[in-house]
Amino acid sequence: MTDPAASSPLAGPAPEPVSLYVHVPFCVSKCAYCDFYSRAGGEALRRPFVDAALFEAGHWSHYDLLDDVPTLYIGGGTPTLLGDDLVRLVRGLIETARLRADAELTVETNPETTDAALVAALVKEGVNRFSLGVQSFDDDVLRTLGRCHDAERARAATRILRDSGAGFSIDLICGVPGQTTASWDATLEEAVRCGARHLSVYPLTVEEGTPLDAAVRAGTVPAPDPDDAADMMLAAEMALAAAGMPRYEVASYAQPGHESRHNLVYWTGGSYLGVGPHAASMLTAEQYRRVAEGEGWATPPASEPPCARARFTREASLEEYVRRPLADPGPVEFLDADETAREDAMLGLRTTAGITAAQADAAGAVEALVGLAEQGLVRVTESADGESRWRTTEQGWLLGNRVFEAVWTAEDPSRP
Ligand code: SF4
Repeated sequence: MTDPAASSPLAGPAPEPVSLYVHVPFCVSKCAYCDFYSRAGGEALRRPFVDAALFEAGHWSHYDLLDDVPTLYIGGGTPTLLGDDLVRLVRGLIETARLRADAELTVETNPETTDAALVAALVKEGVNRFSLGVQSFDDDVLRTLGRCHDAERARAATRILRDSGAGFSIDLICGVPGQTTASWDATLEEAVRCGARHLSVYPLTVEEGTPLDAAVRAGTVPAPDPDDAADMMLAAEMALAAAGMPRYEVASYAQPGHESRHNLVYWTGGSYLGVGPHAASMLTAEQYRRVAEGEGWATPPASEPPCARARFTREASLEEYVRRPLADPGPVEFLDADETAREDAMLGLRTTAGITAAQADAAGAVEALVGLAEQGLVRVTESADGESRWRTTEQGWLLGNRVFEAVWTAEDPSRP
């Protein structure tokens, strides 16, 4: 490994923005459905983890990757389980990265660790947005999910966040075995009233190897019914639109102006750098090349069309990470310009903004989109300035995977 400071093109052009994600892999306990990389407890590793994350972020900053950071997202896991160490992490990241004056700075939290004093300390450091894992305001549903909080604790957490002055989002899960329509409607009603300006709504999926998977296989918990989940997603869309929080992405709803800027980076092909074990990064080919040359990583292939982006995950375990926070990434995925255009089109169709005709063309996806339009899953709309956009329809939201896959696998007929 060479000294990155020595190879840093300090005199180069203005840096392209890179969003920063920090993965905090600790939770109070593991939820029954969770396959995220996180560890129950792990108290002895928390302080070393923060030291390692700050060291890692500081290292990448030498490559000028953190000179123009529009959004910082500290997720997990349960970052607020770190307590005062989380305040130290936020402060250290702000000292390391050059955050824009209007940067969005989000911290994920869960009800059991949402403490008023900690939230106030984080807001004082500059945190301006929280994302709270409520999942449901029904104790029976929370028990099925294996959450370690109850509905009353979730309500208390929303009050703390509402009083903090920062914006906040809540996550909800639908299609949970045993969850009734009445329970879901009541959860939506509370979600609307609790002061959140943003909601993420996901159907429950049974991930292989989780306790929920084992329970479904053993027959002690019924498998989630996708039709129930679809009905609940539709109910959410209607209730949230009526409450002034329209959908802006397949699973995301917000009051206008309160959309998640960090998540929009993911859905619009922006660059992001992941810090922490199992955090994913995506950089432009040029940004990646700078790091790869300094670190001795695999360099982008010389290809036609040329490489446009590199995506990688550093899959060290937590123990390895605290010892060696700069370990090499696993296999790097290099995307050429065509693949990048297809990916952007696919992700763009996850948003209500959709994609322009030019984006569809660049992705070689026009034929696929015409086919999807015949099935009623997408449509063309024209804006006031005459710009045509492909957008996902109501039916398309319900069959989203069919839409995204058709665009991702589209073949450009002009390609040899
Ligand atoms: S709180 Fe979130 S990350 Fe932690 S175990 Fe539950 S679902 Fe997984």
